[in-house]
Amino acid sequence: MDIRIGNGYDVHALAPGLPLWLGGVQVESPVGCIAHSDGDVAIHALCDALLGALALGDIGKHFPDTSDEFAGIDSKILLSRVMELIEREGWHVVNVDITIAMQRPKLAPYIVPMRECLAEIMEISPARVSVKATTTEKLGFVGRGEGCEVYAVALLGREEDCFN
Ligand code: MG
Repeated sequence: MDIRIGNGYDVHALAPGLPLWLGGVQVESPVGCIAHSDGDVAIHALCDALLGALALGDIGKHFPDTSDEFAGIDSKILLSRVMELIEREGWHVVNVDITIAMQRPKLAPYIVPMRECLAEIMEISPARVSVKATTTEKLGFVGRGEGCEVYAVALLGREEDCFN
């Protein structure tokens, strides 16, 4: 099997009174991400990892934040579109691993729902979707609660005799 690895990284600033979407799930929080889309920084990093694995550019190239088409868009739709690009080339997701850095709120209750939601969109088992959350021990912009930062890694696979 031919395999490819990609990594993704995204940051959004946080502001009071906005909805907080992470990994396709709405998180109860006094702050949410400032964004052109719904601000799901975890899905954005994941999309960049998936696109990166195939050297297909990044989420900004495919879904420009200057386009009205993507204003307020549900990031789950963006992930579905990225999956279409991947599958068109004959690739499938082997596994993904996502780390969300946020000082508060506590994300532990949302980890399983995020894994299940992302797995459903990518049409793989939740066992192949890792989501981890960490604080930064009150250090830096994440620690001060000014932003949310996400790192993602994706591994893709394709049968070797598939050259489309
Ligand atoms: Mg983003």
